[in-house]
Amino acid sequence: MKKEEFVSNTSSGRRIFLRSLLFGAFSTSLASARLLWGKEGQDEKVKKGGMFYRRLGRTNLLISEIALGGSPVPDMPILLQAIERGVNYIDTSNSYQNGNSERQIGQLLKLAGRDKVHVGTKFHLRRNWNEETIISSVEDSLERLNTDYLDVLLIHGAADEENLDDERVLSAFEKLKKQGKYRFRGLSCHSNHHKVVQKAVDCGYYDMVQLGYNVFDIQETEKEVQTYDDYLGASGIKHLISRAKSKDVGIIAMKTLKVGGKRQNLEKFKTGTTSLFQAMLKWALENKDISAVVTEMLTYEQLEEDLAVVGKPLSEKERRNLMRFVAERSKDYCHMCGLCQSACPCGIKTTAILRFLAYYEGYNKTELAKKSYSRLKSFENASACKNCGECEKSCPYGVSVRDKIREVHDLFG
Ligand code: SF4
Ligand code: SF4
Repeated sequence: MKKEEFVSNTSSGRRIFLRSLLFGAFSTSLASARLLWGKEGQDEKVKKGGMFYRRLGRTNLLISEIALGGSPVPDMPILLQAIERGVNYIDTSNSYQNGNSERQIGQLLKLAGRDKVHVGTKFHLRRNWNEETIISSVEDSLERLNTDYLDVLLIHGAADEENLDDERVLSAFEKLKKQGKYRFRGLSCHSNHHKVVQKAVDCGYYDMVQLGYNVFDIQETEKEVQTYDDYLGASGIKHLISRAKSKDVGIIAMKTLKVGGKRQNLEKFKTGTTSLFQAMLKWALENKDISAVVTEMLTYEQLEEDLAVVGKPLSEKERRNLMRFVAERSKDYCHMCGLCQSACPCGIKTTAILRFLAYYEGYNKTELAKKSYSRLKSFENASACKNCGECEKSCPYGVSVRDKIREVHDLFG
């Protein structure tokens, strides 16, 4: 492990922080890195080559503001190119592509060198999980990744805040830590954000959190809403991010281009040469409390598109076009807050139905969507709708609930 000096500004003058950094790639970079942010209360952002790096909360890892998502992971030449261009954080999981994402990244670590990349992988708390299943999942991940340590070990999709301090989880984390199998702890969260992220931040045990954050949070409601067990976020995301920041818990944003990972590159929302997707990335990176956005780079075109936003602020024109996009499309974007479902006098599972639509539209999981919809009882599905409109009145985001549930019924009913 190498020690490097990391220079930051504060109101009282320049301070020298000693940072423990693993990366040889950074060993000569930081002294010459240009400091871009550094007022008291803000984090540092440094530049090396064409990439900008931000501190991941108290892990003190400096990670590229564009991080590579491993679900799915690109082919090796693209992976190598991404690393060459300065991407130094890869997010994966034991479950991505049945372990092949980790295998591919393991190959990358062999070819590029372990010290060139920070790797975060995850374990699940699914069916009959216990301390042993966690430990064996992590050991399998290490083997696939060709490494003896992880930079960040995360709970995958933590949905129940009770699990965060469950003694089986804590014991597994402690044992693995003692064995040097990971450096920092974290979790990803797709649902029940309010409770899960708040607890993760407040309990002091977790160093970072990965959560969905995208342009549709522009229209974040101030309303108190109940959360719903799903992929998507509920309102209050920005507040949670600020809270994490105040406790120096690192935040990595995912689902930056809204649910499903589809690039929304609609010509009419382009601003000059800036694609809509690039504007979305810029918007997310505008939040200085976020260390990086995870994005996929499956082709060279996607890689270029993603990396082109590095260090470029969102222009006012781009922002206006984003706002137009959000205004036009917010009716398509469900935050899974659950309010419409609670409001339906007929007991129709509107939020669940919208989730099935996201499986179909966003993730191309047609069979899962179909199966999930068929499991609803007849009084819970869209055929029982009385068209009263209560669901839409309750939706803080203006989602066209009725049209969408009918669409699902037409597809799978
Ligand atoms: S319009 Fe249909 S789905 Fe919406 S609240 Fe009324 S009955 Fe429920
Ligand atoms: S449609 Fe609206 S109210 Fe219903 S879950 Fe989605 S965001 Fe919430």
